[in-house]
Amino acid sequence: MIELPIFSPVEVIPDPLFEEKGISVSIKRDDMIHPFISGNKWRKLKYVLRDAEAGQRHHLVTFGGAFSNHLLATACAAAKFGFRSTGFVRGERVENAHLKICDLFGMKLRFVDRTSYRDKRGLYEQNYHFDEDSYFIDEGGAGDLAAEGCSELIGELTEPYDHIFCAAGTGTTVAGLIRGCERAGLKTLVHAVPVLKGDGYLREEIGKLEDGRFELHENYHFGGYAKSDSELIGFIRKFSSDHGILLDQVYTAKMMYAIYDMVRRDSFPTGTSILAIHTGGLLGITGLK
Ligand SMILES: *Cc1c(COP(=O)(O)O)cnc(C)c1O
Repeated sequence: MIELPIFSPVEVIPDPLFEEKGISVSIKRDDMIHPFISGNKWRKLKYVLRDAEAGQRHHLVTFGGAFSNHLLATACAAAKFGFRSTGFVRGERVENAHLKICDLFGMKLRFVDRTSYRDKRGLYEQNYHFDEDSYFIDEGGAGDLAAEGCSELIGELTEPYDHIFCAAGTGTTVAGLIRGCERAGLKTLVHAVPVLKGDGYLREEIGKLEDGRFELHENYHFGGYAKSDSELIGFIRKFSSDHGILLDQVYTAKMMYAIYDMVRRDSFPTGTSILAIHTGGLLGITGLK
């Protein structure tokens, strides 16, 4: 059975700012689900892996950048649940912690130039078209089955929140959260904090999966994907040392920074409750310059 026990407690974040403004902010520790199949990545992979198994496909083929948490999660999950795995990595061959651990989990790494990488289906078809044992998983594990897995987070909540905040790359996780809230009949508003510099691409991507209501906050990408500055790094240092909860500069720090910034600007009335999703991905810290 392809299953992981979910250990993802909700912790209140005691902070003088939140106290002063009368806002309660909690964090759901999806980062504690697994060290490598971390955060939203287990939720995104769960039904995808089950679909592969049901189709008797034992070779997972997927895609990611050199610092991809999705590649890492897929490599570990493949090893754990009895699949082989191949990861197409964007760009020239490099060495880092992510790829080293992918390799240890037995993932075959194939580096491809950025132009060929753009056509992932094409790459897959070219290499595995006649291979009935292979199974295509899109970059970041994006898609409807992944959103379904993410929607289950909402069922684990034991109290209602006015707002849920989540970092967004492909937007699949946010789409799943919207789906979960709608199904549960909650009035909770889901907020997406894009980590890429976007021009509305995300609204479209989320809209393809889910037509529920959500809010986008496009001013917290800090220059784009994996970009950060001294302000963000200072924020990570302060938050981590104040609360004993680590954030990574690619995803979760941008989401948490957005919450602090909006609370500071009085975007929420007194008495508001906010839940932040810690989507994991802490190995990303090794990419911090
Ligand atoms: C992959 C990832 C995300 C983005 O998830 P999407 O479903 O692609 O939006 C957010 N946070 C972390 C830590 C991640 O690794």
